Amino acid sequence: MSESKTTQIGYVALVGAGPGDPGLITLRGMHLITRCDVLVYDNLMADEFVALSSAPEKIFVGKSSGCHALPQEEICALLVKKAQEGKRVVRLKGGDPFVFGRGGEECQALALAGVPYEVVPGATAGIAGTAYAGVPVTHREVSRGLTVMTAHFAKDKQVDLPWEALARLDHTLVFYMGVASLETVSGELVKHGLSAEMPAMVLERATTGAQREIISDLASIAAKAREAGIRPPGLLVVGNVVNLAQELAWLPDRPLAGKRVLFTRAAESQYEAVHRLRLMGAEVLDLPVVSAEERREDPAIDRAIDELDQVDAIAFTSAIAVDLFFKRLNRIGMDVRRLAQHTLAAASPTVLEALRRQGVMADLTPEKTGAGQLAKMLQAGGLPTGSRVLLPRSSAADQSLPKAMIKAGYTPVPVDLYDSVSLDVNFLTVKLANWTPEAILFLSGSGVQALHRAAPGLFENPNGIIWACIGNKTSESLVKTGVNSVCVPEQPAVDAMVDLVVEQFQRSTAPRSIKK
Ligand code: SAH
Repeated sequence: MSESKTTQIGYVALVGAGPGDPGLITLRGMHLITRCDVLVYDNLMADEFVALSSAPEKIFVGKSSGCHALPQEEICALLVKKAQEGKRVVRLKGGDPFVFGRGGEECQALALAGVPYEVVPGATAGIAGTAYAGVPVTHREVSRGLTVMTAHFAKDKQVDLPWEALARLDHTLVFYMGVASLETVSGELVKHGLSAEMPAMVLERATTGAQREIISDLASIAAKAREAGIRPPGLLVVGNVVNLAQELAWLPDRPLAGKRVLFTRAAESQYEAVHRLRLMGAEVLDLPVVSAEERREDPAIDRAIDELDQVDAIAFTSAIAVDLFFKRLNRIGMDVRRLAQHTLAAASPTVLEALRRQGVMADLTPEKTGAGQLAKMLQAGGLPTGSRVLLPRSSAADQSLPKAMIKAGYTPVPVDLYDSVSLDVNFLTVKLANWTPEAILFLSGSGVQALHRAAPGLFENPNGIIWACIGNKTSESLVKTGVNSVCVPEQPAVDAMVDLVVEQFQRSTAPRSIKK
């Protein structure tokens, strides 16, 4: 299928997002999500795909509190309509689009309308989810087959599965949409001859940080799951393979199991720390809230580069500034040798790393954050008073750094390399209706402002949320919104900030010491 817009008619890709862990989407799926014009989605577990998609149109068609999902015919009509407008549409679905996902119905509607479409399979909950509990759905010596079915029974219809056949099959049985009918299903199976001692598992929110598995026998699985307060989405798995769970469980211990973390950042940079949080069990919404827009046409930048001989030092305060500065330098035919005579300072370990990626070892990095610290570091590093210091940065940066430079006896030469623009995160409103973060992390003041604008409700009740900022400047912006208790690491590094958050979580869940 062509991805160009040369033809009048667009197309629809039905993409399976996998059961929850965002890492489980296919390469093809991710490719399409980042290049579509319209994203149509419903209640997904890995809804950060919605955040990562650059589609100008993101349409939610699922259920949200108080609102019904769009009826299926209307979803089909929407897909056809958007494709007929010439748009590249991605219809994103949890798990696999053809496994209880109504993908088949949508394809039929597209075929009927003559709209080209593509199906990108996804990891389905019944197979991928169970794998995350250490349960292989088949095993040569234990189970010779897998039967997958839905346990959702329309209210007015009788429970209509071939119970007797299922009881006789000797397969692993996986029931989707089964949380509401655990008693019925387990009861019918036993009634029709399956052993009451057959191992069974209820698996809730598999592959996410909130995954829980309840393992028991068929006779008592429903009661155990109710006792544990299991809620949809969940699967019921019945069969001897469930016995392997203990031996094969491979997920590491998750000290942050089920903790909800909102990680805000610039679209340009992704952080390993997010993966680290997920490995600890946190459910992380990795959310780009701002984007750096290079001031490509701004002659002041080229002038600053032309006049590099007139400055003695360059102080970089963000990784994006480093990347854009070098890009600009290269674009006008120069490279790092142009900076051979300059003192180069990095305001934080992140900036230091960005310089390293350009093949540059910074001369100086401060141990603490803050404008004053950067100026002091230049002094301590022996930069003579009266030196001119180039400050390539965001147009949103305030005057504190230039002021601190002047105070230290230097002449600051600020140059605005980029504008920080807020991204459209309107879909957050839907997400936040049933997902409240327990920790929110910020990497910049513009990030704070963007989130504050998009979701002011989050800031109204700051207590009970762990707020963390990479440095003091960012935390000042946060305090302005009314949040007064903020974690800020000593070193302005993402990993250090994440460590602080983990510590806070552990402190809040640790048993309180008993006063004697
Ligand atoms: N197309 C999806 C299934 C959609 S039906 C797929 O292939 O996985 C929705 C049902 O799928 C839920 O009721 C639940 O039974 C199951 N399900 C989806 N994601 C799940 C998850 N992460 N953990 C457990 N069950 C899940």
